[in-house]
Amino acid sequence: MMKTIDQIGELSGKKVFMRADLDVPVVEGKITEPFRIERQKETLRYLLDHGAKVVLAAHISAIPSFEPIKSQLEHLLDVPFGATVTLLENTRQDPGEEKNDETFARTLIAGCDLYVNNAFAVCHREHASVVAVAKLLPAYAGLLIAEEVAQLQKAMDAPAQGKVIVIGGAKASTKVPVIKHLIGRAEHVLVGGVVAIDVLKALGRDIGTSRVDEDAVQLLTGLDLADPRLMVPDDFIWDARAIMDIGPISTERFATMVRAATMVIWNGPMGVFEDTQYATGTSAIAHAAADVQLSVVGGGDTMAAITKAGMTPKRYTFVSTGGGAMLAFLAGQRLPGLEALGHYISS
Ligand code: ADP
Ligand code: MG
Repeated sequence: MMKTIDQIGELSGKKVFMRADLDVPVVEGKITEPFRIERQKETLRYLLDHGAKVVLAAHISAIPSFEPIKSQLEHLLDVPFGATVTLLENTRQDPGEEKNDETFARTLIAGCDLYVNNAFAVCHREHASVVAVAKLLPAYAGLLIAEEVAQLQKAMDAPAQGKVIVIGGAKASTKVPVIKHLIGRAEHVLVGGVVAIDVLKALGRDIGTSRVDEDAVQLLTGLDLADPRLMVPDDFIWDARAIMDIGPISTERFATMVRAATMVIWNGPMGVFEDTQYATGTSAIAHAAADVQLSVVGGGDTMAAITKAGMTPKRYTFVSTGGGAMLAFLAGQRLPGLEALGHYISS
């Protein structure tokens, strides 16, 4: 069983190595979406309030180093960096991180007594600060990981009746396994984005010059494309001969099905939402999902699309900080970072 930080016991005077998730978008030196940082505050505050010192480790992909955004991080986390909280440099600057290298893990945790992982979004990665460190120190899940696991497991386990899954975006390799795993646990699976184009292509429909995932045919084998629970769009917004968004009829049909649900799990935009003229399908899903009693959403681009649709994370029951990690969890795959904490997914 995964131990959580409330099971640590005495924290006073302890030094905690905390793997945080600070992988936020940065545009022209400014953090543009602080959601992931905000989700770190509760665990950090808990450790500090119980008298611990904290060494924060995290990675960032938008820029090479945390240095230029340190003061923004201090402000958003509501702690000054110094004697009590220190922030290590971008873990991925060291090649040992992605190799899950034990020597690098030892340098990371130097002087620390405990390991707390609060970075759900990297739990599908076998990285040094996620996996190797957990073998070197007593390891605990932070409050965010505990909440992500509980919410996503609850969503998976909820009865099929009334449950609608919406999958869009691109990268069939991460999405099709979710469809395969959840279709038997849902009333409907609605498919949009490039994933829908992949399915339409497999069905032999004319998709013109639309974007497809090259590995889709292979990934889709084993999924019954005629399953009545699987809903693909049948009208589209085109740019010349390329599908850019689901069309008005499908948008209306999808939104109505979402609104009729008692639970919705949504990942992935329905179209090229970055361009406002192709954002209608995605925006309709964003609004419909917010009206559902239980709504679980996640994905980096999905988050951006939600904001673009004028919505906020507060409008949903649960917004996962995990993109790939959430999809791996929903696909019933093993997550090395959770296993390192003693949690094994029940599928
Ligand atoms: P998330 O990060 O939420 O999991 P993805 O990364 O899977 O979402 O997919 C998002 C991307 O998919 C967006 O950049 C969007 O433009 C693209 N996309 C969606 N529909 C289409 C389409 N019909 N043609 C090309 N790209 C698309
Ligand atoms: Mg994405």
